[in-house]
Amino acid sequence: MSLLRYSFPTQVLSGPNASDAIAGWLLDHGCKAPLVVTDRGLASLPLTPAFVNQLREGGVTPSLFSDLGGNPVKSQVTAGVEAYNQSGSDAIVGLGGGAAMDVAKAIALMVNHPGDLFDYEDGKPGALPVNQPIPPMVMVATTAGTGSEVGRSSVISDDETKVKKIIFDPKMLPNLAILDPNLTLSLPPGITATTGLDALCHLVEAFVAKGTHPMADGIALEGIRMVAENLRDAFDFARLQYGTDEEKAASKARLGDNNTEARHVEAREKMLNASMMGAVAFQKGLGVTHSLAHSLSTVCDLHHGLANGILMPHAMRFNAKAVPERFVRMAQAAGLSSATPDSFIDWLVQLQDQLSVPRHLKPAGVTEDHVNDLVHYAVLDGCHQSNPCPVSEADFRTLFHDAIGA
Ligand SMILES: [Zn+2]
Repeated sequence: MSLLRYSFPTQVLSGPNASDAIAGWLLDHGCKAPLVVTDRGLASLPLTPAFVNQLREGGVTPSLFSDLGGNPVKSQVTAGVEAYNQSGSDAIVGLGGGAAMDVAKAIALMVNHPGDLFDYEDGKPGALPVNQPIPPMVMVATTAGTGSEVGRSSVISDDETKVKKIIFDPKMLPNLAILDPNLTLSLPPGITATTGLDALCHLVEAFVAKGTHPMADGIALEGIRMVAENLRDAFDFARLQYGTDEEKAASKARLGDNNTEARHVEAREKMLNASMMGAVAFQKGLGVTHSLAHSLSTVCDLHHGLANGILMPHAMRFNAKAVPERFVRMAQAAGLSSATPDSFIDWLVQLQDQLSVPRHLKPAGVTEDHVNDLVHYAVLDGCHQSNPCPVSEADFRTLFHDAIGA
């Protein structure tokens, strides 16, 4: 008999203006000087100075570190640790999407740990132990996709080789996750769509992943229902702000009576929760879609959410034959009138069209010339180990070929 090991996530505070509570939480935990870690893009928007001011008004003295962008690399973590020490910080507040939160967690780890960041790589022979104090960490999600705010790992690349290393330890779990929909109201349509599809991909891959994990399964199904009910509305609200006149008219017509600020806030909050639930659920494992997407990020620098959004129907067609009953349950959760594996895959394709995400990789710049490299990295990726059926090198080749399209 084998025993199941469950890990529950961190404390989560969800709702409009949830970020107002951060300063008070820090003071309650004996911290007065948080280092706010965010990326350059976000730092250039009004949201970041407003966030920092709000902390200051709450009674703490924040410093800002925003020297990062794109895929996180080790030198950014080193610079962040220096900023932490120079400013006399005593806590870390990560503000952003997956990249900012990954760097924030790695900085928190390295503040009191000796050696090099990659000495703590997960599974590395002779890896150094995580046995020193880690400062209190608050993670504030500004996109609804990665769920890193409840994750215990950090993916950081080597500056030169670009090889991604996973730093994982249960002690890297943030102490407080903030899901404040007001911080996501001005996300553009493209980011809303691709991050939302990444969240959906986590929920779907976790639900079909092999292994037994009833808690993850239940969370995944509810998350799928929440994405089905809220992602399109969130996308339409984004198009009302940024779309062409034609797109605005189409989104207005589709939203109808739902076109209210309250509904916008609600859709964004539900998506933030679905994204967080995806990251809780994928404790069970991910699958073939993520191995394909990780390889596309390494070889073609393709955006992670966009890659998953394009790949999901192709990968799920491959998986459906292995666990058809799981697809029936996902179709039910998505509220489809006929609950079959085919109807679920058709729904994924429809969603691509509705969210203006291409059905194939070719429009995203991926060609047959990339396939050998793509297959090489996809086989090496760990995610497909928990796929419901084995994925051979030949399967990866076929999947890339189909996904690239004619
Ligand atoms: Zn993902």
